[in-house]
Amino acid sequence: MQLYKNQDLRVYNSLSGKKEVLKPINEGHIGMYVCGPTVYSNVHLGNCRTFMSFDMIFRYFRHLGFKVRYVRNITDAGHLENDSDDGEDKISKKAKLEQIEPMEVVQRYTVDFHETLQKFNFLPPSIEPTATGHIIEQIEIIKEILEKGYAYEVNGSVYFDVLKFNETNEYGKLSGRKLEDMVANTRELTAQDEKRNPQDFALWKKAEPQHIMRWPSPWGDGFPGWHLECTAMSTKYLGETFDIHGGGMDLKFPHHECEIAQAEASRGKSPVKYWLHANMLTLNGKKMSKSTGNNIYPSEIFSGDNDILSKAYAPSVVRFFMMQAHYTSILDLSDDALLASEKGYNRLMDGINGIEKISIGATSDFDIRAWQQKCYEAMNDDFNTPILIANLFEAIKHINLIKEGKESITQEDKALLQKTMSNFVHDILGLENQSNTKDDSNALNGVMDLLIELRNEARANKDFATSDKIRDELTALGIQLKDGKDGTTFSVN
Ligand SMILES: [Zn+2]
Repeated sequence: MQLYKNQDLRVYNSLSGKKEVLKPINEGHIGMYVCGPTVYSNVHLGNCRTFMSFDMIFRYFRHLGFKVRYVRNITDAGHLENDSDDGEDKISKKAKLEQIEPMEVVQRYTVDFHETLQKFNFLPPSIEPTATGHIIEQIEIIKEILEKGYAYEVNGSVYFDVLKFNETNEYGKLSGRKLEDMVANTRELTAQDEKRNPQDFALWKKAEPQHIMRWPSPWGDGFPGWHLECTAMSTKYLGETFDIHGGGMDLKFPHHECEIAQAEASRGKSPVKYWLHANMLTLNGKKMSKSTGNNIYPSEIFSGDNDILSKAYAPSVVRFFMMQAHYTSILDLSDDALLASEKGYNRLMDGINGIEKISIGATSDFDIRAWQQKCYEAMNDDFNTPILIANLFEAIKHINLIKEGKESITQEDKALLQKTMSNFVHDILGLENQSNTKDDSNALNGVMDLLIELRNEARANKDFATSDKIRDELTALGIQLKDGKDGTTFSVN
């Protein structure tokens, strides 16, 4: 069904700073590229939020009947520490630290990334290309940029000439920065610097003898600059100009600005029609950071194994929590916020599960079609999931009134309500019905309470053989016990 023909979808384009009506380059088709992870460590929850925002967007496009090619890359080379041109390669550094091959690092954390996203019920992208699989394409783009005169070679490295580019193009237009200001605010180059200007960035870096990940090129052995892979892979699979480029807000500058410069310098065309940026996730009001310890991993939320949490949370609860905020707003994660989301999620699922059982009447007190259109309008307004969720709860309110016999619904409207709820909750928001087996989970809770009580008795009697046996057997079944100050809780993996 080509629902998109009847919907006026507007997206916030970071390039224009405005909401614009989405008009794909080829009618009925959407090409979308999203910067993927650098696979040198476990994916953290902030990254998951960015990818989840684009998963929701991908799902909505598909629901509207667009044929979507969604490309999300894996960065497995070329990303240096501090996103700079001089640090150590993040993957090589980890490989040295753990004394394994760089490709083992890549494999380990790519698997972790996929497993985590699967738990959150992500749809896989259409193509998931890697930087190391596209070295030839990256070298070709460097050659084109050199030919056009927007880059220069020094000692086996190639740099993009930002000042030269800015004479004919506009460097900084996405992030709203002016090159003059950037120049005024940076230090002078020293004699050892290879760059002509501090704003220049590496397209190709010469590999020093100790650098493990290296490839031959016309400029000698080296590796590509971080920004280049996304230009190479996006245009290879989506064309020289494509519809949507997404990523985290923090990538707007310099990464996405450099992508625009590379594409315009090599092909003379602006690569992207709509730039979409997802905002960050904070933790207890502060920016997440590995160095300060204000950080949380998805596995810790699923197990409850983190000091800031009072219990474990199911992936769908976390997903619901994320969807309650607009993707361009900062979202703060805390135990209280998760507890509130869990209540909301359960209320939503109970409501959906209850539709089946509501009895039908001769008339409807609830205008389902008007409500359905409000749900679409929320999503058409730059994917406004918080407004959508408010509308879903409005329907839940009516479902409850019908259950209480205070309102009625026709058979036809009931079917439409059920279908629409399922479309928005499961297909578009990507929420799984994890309270489907409510009777089973009540039974499980009862059994677990009993086992926890028996274990506590055993421990009180210093019968550690029995208490350990209970814990170990449960662990083998995928059930984790967590002893906290308010007693013992459990989580199921
Ligand atoms: Zn990128």
